[in-house]
Amino acid sequence: MEYIAETIALGVDSLILATCIKQYYKNKNAMAMIQGAPYLEINKDLKEIVGTHPETKLSYVSIRGTVKALGNPIISNSNPNVTGVIQLLRIKEHVIQRSSTGFWADSERVIQEVHNVMPFSLETKGIRIEVCDPLAADVLDMDVITDQFHPTVPSVIDHIWSFFAGVRQRGVQSTEKMLRTGTTITGIGELVAGKDGVIKLQPPSNGAPFYLTNMQVTSLIKKLDGSKKNYKLLCIVFGTIGIILAGFIIRKYLRIKRKKKETEIQKSLLEASRRERRRIMREGDLTENQLCVVCKTNPKEIILLPCGHVCLCEDCSIDISEKCPVCRTSINTKNVAYVI
Ligand SMILES: [Zn+2]
Ligand SMILES: [Zn+2]
Repeated sequence: MEYIAETIALGVDSLILATCIKQYYKNKNAMAMIQGAPYLEINKDLKEIVGTHPETKLSYVSIRGTVKALGNPIISNSNPNVTGVIQLLRIKEHVIQRSSTGFWADSERVIQEVHNVMPFSLETKGIRIEVCDPLAADVLDMDVITDQFHPTVPSVIDHIWSFFAGVRQRGVQSTEKMLRTGTTITGIGELVAGKDGVIKLQPPSNGAPFYLTNMQVTSLIKKLDGSKKNYKLLCIVFGTIGIILAGFIIRKYLRIKRKKKETEIQKSLLEASRRERRRIMREGDLTENQLCVVCKTNPKEIILLPCGHVCLCEDCSIDISEKCPVCRTSINTKNVAYVI
């Protein structure tokens, strides 16, 4: 119980530190893998290159080409001039909610999220690479076509209701994102030649990250490097906080231990002096009047205040703390009395 605040703080710090370390290594590994992935031009030789590899597969490569729909592209809901191959429609509700602490805070909740996907390929000079399972991509860059917020105008009844319910609606946000046809993107993943001779880019089976991004490979590496450095900094910060907290706990533990030891020494010294006093008292015969009124064995050693009765030995005084056994007055303090 003595260490509860420090332990909770150390626990939270360790959790954040573990997340930062995980993210740092995730970025570092992704960077190393992308740096090791050869960049291949989409051209007519590509089929041959893929064909010469075992299982007609290249486990991790990067390619760059223009997005072309295989069939009719999806037409944007908000702008009929925009066409794409992946469409994300999301409706979010923004509310102000009363938290358990009594404060009102903004929060949002996704009401509906729909992905529409059209088969597509990456193309350069008429050569096509089909992209499989694009929604499995770790990074999938899409353009925001619309992002609108429709505020709610609350009525008086809504105000009263929200006061009791603890939730007030602020409005609804609708977003449309698309991977547009005609955009040039970089695809990093596994390249395979199908039985039909079609070359496909798909999520890597070795667990490496799958990217469909409008960034060039060099920019992507730069971005990952930046985020790796940020996580490294966070690791240093939270690591240092962890060491400081652990230091606090160790210091507190040692201090409490030292205090306990000191109290024990003090106690044993008192005990020894008491034994000595009793020995001296017993040497001269004690009369009934000089004995503790409770145990009738030890000499009277303790004065009770405010009544002033010297009627207890030290042993019995430990258990008696409320009322004086002689006059029933409430005990405020007990002191050692030296009766000569
Ligand atoms: Zn006694
Ligand atoms: Zn008394």
